[in-house]
Amino acid sequence: MTEHSGVVVLGSLNMDIVLSVERIPGPGETLLAREMDTYPGGKGLNQAVAVARANAPCTMIGFLGTDDFGRSLRDVLETERIENSRVLEIKGQTTGQAFITVSQSAENSIVVVSGANINPSSLTERDLESIASARVLLAQLEIPISRVSQAARFAKSKGSTVVLNAAPATELDDDLLSNLDFLIVNEHEASIIAKENDLPKAMQKLAGKVDNLIVTLGKLGSVVFSNAIELFRTPAFEVKAVDTTGAGDTFCGAFVAAISKGETIQFAVRYATAASALAVTKQGAVPSIPTEAEVEEFLAARL
Ligand code: ADP
Repeated sequence: MTEHSGVVVLGSLNMDIVLSVERIPGPGETLLAREMDTYPGGKGLNQAVAVARANAPCTMIGFLGTDDFGRSLRDVLETERIENSRVLEIKGQTTGQAFITVSQSAENSIVVVSGANINPSSLTERDLESIASARVLLAQLEIPISRVSQAARFAKSKGSTVVLNAAPATELDDDLLSNLDFLIVNEHEASIIAKENDLPKAMQKLAGKVDNLIVTLGKLGSVVFSNAIELFRTPAFEVKAVDTTGAGDTFCGAFVAAISKGETIQFAVRYATAASALAVTKQGAVPSIPTEAEVEEFLAARL
């Protein structure tokens, strides 16, 4: 028997370029930005940071371009102690980027350059070895779904726990769904994937297709279904929300970290609920993701 430990995150890495403007420009309009900031991002990287800060060993599989943004993102992986030898640079390709225009009234518009993230190649032998040795595989959908399906099938065959955060939402085939131990979606994604606008119906429909379903409900918390039956609901913690960017990514990473340590679903959801509550109290995605010590302190004060 191979010893399974830690988490493999298969996903995207982006540099987010945030342009602060007075208003969102219309067609043909040129505006001057008040400020430009760059932040590490991409659902894959955000979730890997959430896993690592929750103190679970984390390996990332993904692609960068051969540019300065790629080098900066590699530094983030190093700083966060995320094993990154399976994050490969694609020659001549750009690193994923998201251009986020934020107006004074906090509206935004986003243009994503997927760049290296959408490299369609299959997982290599070494990628598969990393997946086989992990206790949990965590993937999202900002990369080609063929890679996610290959990883899920392989991880399942090796007895790892397979978790998919189906964001951004897209149609999921039965083969992929049958290999998932947990599907995590927000309410919007649940409706799109189930092709059902009524949320209770959408959740019930999805719950019938996977072993375990977790639907996050923003400041209302989350609901867990197992074997098509609603198991429990967890209210969100009451906090002063400053910026909800990255709440879902923090929830997924923290949940998976706890599961990889052998915790129960109930414990892992409570831990993830606390981690994501802390994340919304600070600006940004990566900067707002809490450490294990911060989550434990938060929970200890609320026993
Ligand atoms: P996403 O970021 O994918 O849209 P949600 O908005 O559902 O995901 O948030 C994920 C989790 O973050 C929720 O289940 C909840 O536990 C926590 N959360 C989100 N918004 C708040 C908030 N305003 N206050 C406290 N917790 C929150």
